[in-house]
Amino acid sequence: MPEPILVDTSQKAHVAIVGQPNVGKSALFNRLAGRRISIVHDEPGVTRDRIAVDCTPGTITFEITDTGGIGAALDDVFSNQIQAEADIAIESSDLILFVVDGREDLTPVDHELAQVLHRSDSQVILVVNKIDDPKVDDNAAVFSALGFGNSIAVSAAHGRHFDQLAKSIDSHLESMGFAPFEANPDTAQQDPAIKVAIVGRPNVGKSSLVNAILKDERTIVSDVAGTTRDSVDIPYTRGNDPYLLIDTAGMRRRTRRDTSVEAFSAMRAERSIRRADICLLVVDSSKGAVAQDRRIARMILEAQKPCIILLNKFDLYHPDAKFRDRLEILEDDIREDLFFLDFAPMIAVSALKGEFLNQIFKSIRRIKKTSSAPIGTGALNRLLRQAIESNPPPRRNGKRLKLLYCTQKRHDSPTPIPSPEYLLFVNSAKLLSQTYERYLEKQIREKHPLIGLPLVFKMKSREVKKARK
Ligand code: GDP
Repeated sequence: MPEPILVDTSQKAHVAIVGQPNVGKSALFNRLAGRRISIVHDEPGVTRDRIAVDCTPGTITFEITDTGGIGAALDDVFSNQIQAEADIAIESSDLILFVVDGREDLTPVDHELAQVLHRSDSQVILVVNKIDDPKVDDNAAVFSALGFGNSIAVSAAHGRHFDQLAKSIDSHLESMGFAPFEANPDTAQQDPAIKVAIVGRPNVGKSSLVNAILKDERTIVSDVAGTTRDSVDIPYTRGNDPYLLIDTAGMRRRTRRDTSVEAFSAMRAERSIRRADICLLVVDSSKGAVAQDRRIARMILEAQKPCIILLNKFDLYHPDAKFRDRLEILEDDIREDLFFLDFAPMIAVSALKGEFLNQIFKSIRRIKKTSSAPIGTGALNRLLRQAIESNPPPRRNGKRLKLLYCTQKRHDSPTPIPSPEYLLFVNSAKLLSQTYERYLEKQIREKHPLIGLPLVFKMKSREVKKARK
């Protein structure tokens, strides 16, 4: 028995259409999407403006992607295109609709595609298209040789048997745990606690902050704190939202007599960061950000965790100056020192006075909300293609980076605040420089600021095989 694949079904299902040109992939896409979208298709090199849309042909809403034409960006070698499209479908979708032309015989490309799909263990529905009339229903039987069990004979042009197709898609997605959105009205109550790590160098006020939060009238400490090797975990509820504070400072207190404590504190911080859904990096406003703050900030960056920078002891920072001016100057200063955490919002607080604590939780909720709204595949592809067109990547050894397709990846296991992860299918990942990656990130953030969230880019290379002569 193969291991069951666990997918995060709290997010939308992804379905991809693959098949060789002219089998009717676009017609199928349009029919499922339930609208007439005019697209220039099956012309090599033509970029479609509709790559993926949301649709609900049955009861479950999913995003449908037509991979046709994506591979054309790579080169002119036909089998490479087909292979690239299949790879993209396998990597980026939960279910694949493999379309063949029911009015033709099986082709070598159909066989090639079938082999690739079988090897991948993907869930596949074989769709035999262009069966416009009951008279040709028998044609569909030929395709059982591809080994995908029950196929569905449809006519994308006339909508024939689309109810069957919709049912079949629903049952495949259901078997993976996807459900109609309305079927789960209690999700708010089932939300897991958000794990919040409070990190920072000694004496910035972490313990004071934890105490202030726990003393705050909005907080209900709901349970007995647990202790790990590195931290004290404190479950509590604020409003209706459950949290788990990962308090590294509390741990330090417990082992104060241990002389190696400071040496371990960085390691502790690191482990706590890795366990967290979001990090609160506490800095001391009166001291500014120093090397040790930067070290911890880098850990957060490397762990790719959402983050908020807390400017604690704000009460000590030029208390006599005007509030706005103090805040502006302090933020500028800290931003300069922690420039690489530029996605993290800053909040000035005073643990001592218990001031502005509510801002922290407002910000966490806002970041969580942002993280739960991925950028649609169509919009993302348009955005990045435009970014690349207006500022093409520099050549490396005479070669230039080409983007075939990109999609926002779903996380393998559900997390309350997932950092957005973009899966980029490119000709060669080696051609992407860090500077260019930063440029792409900046372009995404211009349209979608994604405050508090680091962006993660994952590359999939599609090396071009030499054309067979
Ligand atoms: P930790 O090592 O990061 O846990 O820091 P502590 O919570 O032990 O705080 C270190 C010192 O800073 C203590 O003397 C606190 O009273 C003081 N402190 C913490 N937060 C504030 C604050 O917001 N304002 C002021 N003025 N002092 C603070």
